[in-house]
Amino acid sequence: MNFNSTDIHSFRDIWVFCEQRDGKLMNTDFELISEGRKLADERGSKLVGILLGYEVKDIAKELGGYGADKVIVCDHPELKFYTTDAYAKVLCDVVMEEKPEVLLIGATNIGRDLGPRCAARLRTGLTADCTHLDINTKKYIDFLSTSSTLDVASMSFPMEDTNLKMTRPAFGGHLMATIICPRFRPCMSTVRPGVMKKAQFSQEKADACQIVMRHVELSPEDLKTKVINIAKEAKKMVDLIGADIIVSVGRGISKDVDGGILLAQKLAEAFGDGVVGGSRAVIDSGWLPADHQVGQTGKTVHPKVYVALGISGAIQHKAGMQDSELIIAVNKDETAPIFDCADYGIAGDLFKVVPIMIEAIKETKN
Ligand code: FAD
Repeated sequence: MNFNSTDIHSFRDIWVFCEQRDGKLMNTDFELISEGRKLADERGSKLVGILLGYEVKDIAKELGGYGADKVIVCDHPELKFYTTDAYAKVLCDVVMEEKPEVLLIGATNIGRDLGPRCAARLRTGLTADCTHLDINTKKYIDFLSTSSTLDVASMSFPMEDTNLKMTRPAFGGHLMATIICPRFRPCMSTVRPGVMKKAQFSQEKADACQIVMRHVELSPEDLKTKVINIAKEAKKMVDLIGADIIVSVGRGISKDVDGGILLAQKLAEAFGDGVVGGSRAVIDSGWLPADHQVGQTGKTVHPKVYVALGISGAIQHKAGMQDSELIIAVNKDETAPIFDCADYGIAGDLFKVVPIMIEAIKETKN
């Protein structure tokens, strides 16, 4: 196939890999399509979703409702369940033929597996776990490639900077690095679930979205793995990303771990249908399972109310919760950094403060 990732001017359009499980689209798809719409408008290009699966044509239109101009559907029985071999082969085949300028993938378990594999095959770069994307198409003068003495005649200008600016935390979250992929296309990025805001669904846009069915070529030699059975975890995972109320606990519960978690559960219930999260210290200590972790290496959340109990407010924790609508922090150290981003701060022992909060909430409800 005639594909050269360095021939950057032959690539166009913004693409989003849309993940489905059991024939259902993921929330991350809608977030990425919504963000992709903004990028496509800035760039003046089309937004295309690419959906792989089996008998998934009917769900494709929904992506149009969040901003996709077109959805390419690759439908094949071997794509019913995710396998690295089949998905990487099919996605790379389509990308090599259609040449998108940008390819966004959700940083889910599947996306983290699929993205790097495809980037290596396509001989391009990938920025993993992005929290911000931008295409600034400003024209600029290319000073770097000119000599140190300013010779206007020899300058190549103006240049159009069409690089996708991919921002992610670096050095343990102490700084945000903005990365570009200037010499290769597509610009590939995996994006953290829960970070990009979902647009309002529009039925009109969904109806207008073009659906293109794509012929899939998969032979037995392409498939080195076979899915025999999918065993779902018996335990229900906590839905931190979709929760409106989160009460998180930190190492501050160490003197009575079970009592601290119970208090957090009761407070979450008192607020109404809340869930319990935790800092990494809590997860590393085995006090809560990993799916409860909030922060840079956990989940990024923006609930209506986030309560931090006995959490110091390390930068890596704040990275996952500072965009919450309302933050309440309880910490016995009044200089704890969590108070810097809190709307309401209570300096005190959480074991004394939380029962009072629960009673107060119950009273206001009665
Ligand atoms: P501590 O920092 O030990 O704070 C405990 C707090 O509890 C203190 O402020 C103390 O004053 C208070 N306290 C103690 N007793 C009471 C009491 N009775 N009542 C009220 N307050 C009390 N952390 C995350 O949370 N999420 C992440 O995703 C994450 N990712 C990371 C990634 C990297 C690469 C690195 C290097 C670190 C990461 N961390 C993450 C760890 C982070 O740096 C902190 O170590 C961690 O957040 C600290 O957790 P904590 O606030 O529960 O504990």
